Amino acid sequence: MASFSLFGISVSRGISIGRAHLIAHAAMDTKHYLVPQEKVEAEVERLQQALGTVQKELETIWTSLPQDAPVELGAFLDVHAMILADSVISKEPFNIIRTRRYNAEWALMTQIEELTARFEHIEDPYLRERKADIQQVAERIMKVLTGTPTDYHPVASNSDDERIDMIVVAYDISPADMLQFRDDTFSGFVSEIGGRNSHAAIVARSIDTPAVFGLAGALSLIRQDDWLIVDADAGIVIVNPTPLVMEQYRARQAAQAKARKKLTRLKKTPAVTLDGTPVALMANIEFPDDCMVALENGATGVGLFRSEFLFMGRSGGISKIPGEDEQFEAYRRAVTLMKGRPVTIRTLDIGADKPIGTRESVTLNPALGKRAIRYCLAEPDIFLSQIRAILRASAFGPVKLMVPMLVHAFEIDQTLALIEEAKSQLKAANRKFDENIQIGAMVEVPAAILGLPMFTSRLDFLSIGTNDLIQYALAIDRVYPEVAHLYNPLHPAILSMISMTIWAADKAGIPVSICGEVAGDPALTRLLLGMGLREFSMHPAQLLNVKQAILSSDVTLLKPKVDKILTLVEENEIEEAVRQLQDDAKTETDA
Ligand code: PEP
Ligand code: MG
Repeated sequence: MASFSLFGISVSRGISIGRAHLIAHAAMDTKHYLVPQEKVEAEVERLQQALGTVQKELETIWTSLPQDAPVELGAFLDVHAMILADSVISKEPFNIIRTRRYNAEWALMTQIEELTARFEHIEDPYLRERKADIQQVAERIMKVLTGTPTDYHPVASNSDDERIDMIVVAYDISPADMLQFRDDTFSGFVSEIGGRNSHAAIVARSIDTPAVFGLAGALSLIRQDDWLIVDADAGIVIVNPTPLVMEQYRARQAAQAKARKKLTRLKKTPAVTLDGTPVALMANIEFPDDCMVALENGATGVGLFRSEFLFMGRSGGISKIPGEDEQFEAYRRAVTLMKGRPVTIRTLDIGADKPIGTRESVTLNPALGKRAIRYCLAEPDIFLSQIRAILRASAFGPVKLMVPMLVHAFEIDQTLALIEEAKSQLKAANRKFDENIQIGAMVEVPAAILGLPMFTSRLDFLSIGTNDLIQYALAIDRVYPEVAHLYNPLHPAILSMISMTIWAADKAGIPVSICGEVAGDPALTRLLLGMGLREFSMHPAQLLNVKQAILSSDVTLLKPKVDKILTLVEENEIEEAVRQLQDDAKTETDA
């Protein structure tokens, strides 16, 4: 088998070696996990029963057809019955469950994809149309399967020595799709589209799984079960590597695992610079249980709880969003797990690449549309119920409430008024909450930075969302791979906006953090320290790397160097100066 390499965008770090698992767009909403060996026959039985139920359904429809029903109707039912009886559906999925241990839904969808792909090449338009029938039959089976959940936990691919790691290869992976993949079944992700700062990329980093996106043509060049090396550090995917290359990568993988293990020694070391400046290292989380990983990596709090992940990937879209009590339980769990450390809960930031529901229609410029606070202010009932849930959680430990994408003073005022209203409602209902809960804003739109006094005069804290700030300031869609090379945190405009915000917050005497991806990049830690940043929030997997950079930095030495960098206007000069700043760490530690 010929070996070749594909080049894309590195969206997370590390190396993954495994077999390719091609997942077509249509199968994305399906659950994908491995069945424990001892449950394989039960899973086979589950699918068998589902097929039987669908067969009975079709028979019932047949017998209840009125006498005068058009003949085509009966013919359609015949076609559906034939599809159901075809070995592609009635036999192959069972082999897949037994040999690959796929769950029933996944096994079925693998076959459905194969069957529909065959129809794509049929010239006869009538026969080609039968693709829709296959999909309808598949939907019927899936509906029955969804109603018969399993009684076991999915197994991680890595947890079983006999298993070979599996790597997802897809056209596009949305953040909601990523939620399906969070349970460790897959050890790597390859996608044709998606940029480094898309929310799917952020989730890949947060679950610390190697991923390369923006790999055009991957689905047609890579075949099912091909061996892959995903070198996420370099943004390269090697298909069917030679034994020598494989050996080298296995050695690199082992060395990385060793280095990570060594870093865990820093877990309890306070994040203090060489000159004694303490730095807060907080975690970005998507779900309450992420707090456990945050604590394992020594987080001193949660700087960003992306609450919208509780709302996404639920079938039924907007009608199925979590209610106040369900949200309250999730927030309270995070607060309890963090044991007295602060938890910053961001109110719903949906829209753009985080739609509620699975695949909703999007406007032409969704990132500029009814996103985040704009959505919440337009839906005050949804917003109020979230605010009440957050306030109720504040009775169980320190909670901060953070609002995304604010731009106008009236948006801040309306938000504050709604928070007051929620407080009154809770008081009337005799519910406990922290009366003095801190309220802050994400600063992530350039206009917010140019109008900072309107924030500092009204709010208790700020957090710079560099992911969106860069997108909006440089006019680069963070999801779009073809402009990914233009997305540069070291653009002089971005540096001056970050430093302006830190300066203004400092002057106003309110805390400021960064919770965008910039905060978790150890190559930028010293730059940010020199700018005066003392609170960093990032996905937990990066915490110890950033802590290591902090421990070897002296702020008094960094400040004048960074002041100089802030006067530079050429990107390449800034990049070189930031590299030099990194190299200087060695001499500062030795001094
Ligand atoms: C940001 O924009 O930097 C941020 C932290 O928020 P999100 O990535 O969720 O948009
Ligand atoms: Mg943002």
